[in-house]
Amino acid sequence: MKLNLTTKIFIGLILGATIGLILHFTSPDLFDTMDAYFFGPLGTIFLNLIKMLVIPIVFFSITLGTASLGDPKKLGRIGGKALGFFLVTTTVAITIALSLAYIFQPGNTGIDTTGAEYETTAAPSVVDTFTGIIPTNPIQSMVDGNMLQIIAFSMFIGFALAMLGKKAENVYRFVEQGNEIMMYLVNIIMKFAPYGAFGLLASAIGRMGLDGARAMGSYMIVVLVALLIHAIVTYGSAVMFIAKRNPFTFFKDFFPAMTVAFSTSSSSSTLPISMKTAQEKLRVPEPISSFVQPLGATINMDGTAIMQGVATIFIAQVYSTELSFTQLLMVVLTAVLASIGTAGVPGVGLIMLAMVLNQVSLPVEGIALIIGIDRLLDMARTAVNITGDAACAVVITETEQKHETEAPLQESASY
Ligand code: ASP
Repeated sequence: MKLNLTTKIFIGLILGATIGLILHFTSPDLFDTMDAYFFGPLGTIFLNLIKMLVIPIVFFSITLGTASLGDPKKLGRIGGKALGFFLVTTTVAITIALSLAYIFQPGNTGIDTTGAEYETTAAPSVVDTFTGIIPTNPIQSMVDGNMLQIIAFSMFIGFALAMLGKKAENVYRFVEQGNEIMMYLVNIIMKFAPYGAFGLLASAIGRMGLDGARAMGSYMIVVLVALLIHAIVTYGSAVMFIAKRNPFTFFKDFFPAMTVAFSTSSSSSTLPISMKTAQEKLRVPEPISSFVQPLGATINMDGTAIMQGVATIFIAQVYSTELSFTQLLMVVLTAVLASIGTAGVPGVGLIMLAMVLNQVSLPVEGIALIIGIDRLLDMARTAVNITGDAACAVVITETEQKHETEAPLQESASY
């Protein structure tokens, strides 16, 4: 029987979680050995393989995307649409999170806060994030993996390629072929995804077990329900009503990328796979996918905003603090900014939560209460984070098509 890749990844996830859980409860020593020599390395090899492609893919694809969009007006329009979509959906996400947290009151279940301690890691300020977008040394940005700076640099190069046309033809071809090579490698690496997902899940679940889940059950459920509602209702409606596509097909086609996001807990690492899936399965043209998805993987984190919204209310309830309406608005605003500033790597959403809590004077130690189960929630919210970027890419694809038929744009670069 020939199984397709999605089914194989899914089996890998389930098998990994089950074996991890069984070993956690029956034989922790055996788990430690298996984790050190089998699960851990399997997961790390897969993670490293896809991470290896992230920086070159972002550079090649954004440069190519910007160069082939060419017209600055078109670029501005797509950028504007993307930012608008990101802001609106993130605000909707936090609103869903806050409402559910108020309805279900996950923090009013007599949680003991004694001994809760959390050392804050300085979160980058929003102003620093914005002013730091333009790199002073693009090579350094690539070495450091600073996504926003790589995006900015690639856009400059792409713009110059579009403007220079024939004069820079060879470099354009080089970037085009570089992109081709990267996408080919993604295809090969994806074949390893079921084993990688198995290793990552077995390792994570085997280490955590369900201890945290039992104590923080209601908080966890509220976050998961909010994530589910946001994915189905918000993205489903955007795909159905704005892009006029079937939302079921959208979720089904994008599912392989979601499972990879789930197992890696990193939007950035999943980027090569989410772009490939969007281009091939969701029929998003390369220039749009190359432009919208890396940007989204870096600044659009609806799942993270949901966790931050629920966590803020949860911590307020645990410490019996009432938040005023103005404070709630502050939570919405800072969570939007925090999700923009959150890097697409595991666990950063929790660090940025400190910024939201500080803003409304809630005790940052509260983070200690939820840290134990954050890894699990990180998986789910990362899957939502990248689905938001894909939904945005689909919406832009369809609305741009309308634009093209109404007023076809001329190619500004002729190669
Ligand atoms: N892990 C998340 C992501 O990569 C970010 C976070 O919420 O920690 O999208």
